Amino acid sequence: MNSIPRPELDPKSLRPETRLVHAGTLRSQFGETSEALFLTQGYVYDQSETAEARFAGRDAGFVYSRYANPTVAMFEQRMAALEGAEACRATASGMAAVTAALLCQLRTGDHVVSGRALFGSCRYVIEELLPRYGIAATLVDGTDLAAWKAAIRPETRAFFLESPTNPTLEILDIQAIAKLARAAKARLIVDNVFATPLLQSPLELGAEIVVYSATKHIDGQGRCLGGAILASEAFIAEHLHTFLRQTGPCLSPFNAWVLLKGLETLGLRVERMQASAASLADFLAAHKRIKKVLYPGRSDHPQAALAKKQMKGSGTLLAFEVADGKAGAFRFADALRLIRISNNLGDAKSLITHPATTTHQRFAPEVRAEMGISDGLLRLSVGLEHADDLAEDLARGLKAL
Ligand SMILES: *Cc1c(COP(=O)(O)O)cnc(C)c1O
Repeated sequence: MNSIPRPELDPKSLRPETRLVHAGTLRSQFGETSEALFLTQGYVYDQSETAEARFAGRDAGFVYSRYANPTVAMFEQRMAALEGAEACRATASGMAAVTAALLCQLRTGDHVVSGRALFGSCRYVIEELLPRYGIAATLVDGTDLAAWKAAIRPETRAFFLESPTNPTLEILDIQAIAKLARAAKARLIVDNVFATPLLQSPLELGAEIVVYSATKHIDGQGRCLGGAILASEAFIAEHLHTFLRQTGPCLSPFNAWVLLKGLETLGLRVERMQASAASLADFLAAHKRIKKVLYPGRSDHPQAALAKKQMKGSGTLLAFEVADGKAGAFRFADALRLIRISNNLGDAKSLITHPATTTHQRFAPEVRAEMGISDGLLRLSVGLEHADDLAEDLARGLKAL
């Protein structure tokens, strides 16, 4: 019996929580409920003519999974619908997304301006890798708009930033920085990992490109790596499409499938993790041996007003400084029984990191100081555990101080 296909709702008419569950689903002839996992490298063609038409781009079907794959395409379409972007391309990791977003559009002689408070590998790509190919970079204090403006040169082609930043959770004014970028004819790339697609929409604030490590909240259960680049169709057609196809940092269909299922619960997870993060930030701030708490949702955060204006929530991460520097931080982290020591974030399990000796170890002490990373600073990624159990665990850390 032939059935009539049901017309799809336009994802734009749906709220983000609904897009997370439905957007981008491509059902096969079997009508499966859950997204199918197309674990295939290639595709077969009924006739030589079909193969010819696919290679010529006249027929829209799949050709090779380095180029595109139905499960990966579902992930890309769901991400694009969530972000409100024209298009998305998935990558094997967040760093593949960051590197491709930069390299695909830059050439020798170009210049990049970037916020200096960056995830370690992002800073490596901008500060060390790009200059090897004759692409200069200037790192600025991202909260200082005058510094962004002063760094612009005639050959500036791209701006790069993270907000909230890692690990000190500074908030950068995306709208104002996007304006400066546009005036300089440079494209602003925002690494939106800390905010997640639910809590901040950089494209609406004027950015041209958004990148994610899907490894973090999007998987959210510590299983696989992935990344995504979101931009206009025109940017992807002109710069990214061929770069990705020919260099091959493609997302595995298996990982795309895990990430798709992760997206279904992203809204619930972020909501719960954020509520716990807010209460734990207040809990820590009330203790006298905690020197300061950094959480964008607290009124004592240096950019509290900007966070409120630019973000739809305050996020799932917080940072705090304990008395007695590195020794105090180690005593605190080692006394925890539930919260585990790990450099990862966005996981269902709460994770604590000492940035000065791990993620930011390679920087000189002065550079760390400039980024606000003191020896007593700890970063906490709040997970899905009951907030009271987490508070009881943090109390163990406080007692060890
Ligand atoms: C983790 C992370 C990345 C890199 O992502 P991978 O998936 O580990 O390659 C980039 N930027 C930020 C802000 C991150 O937290």
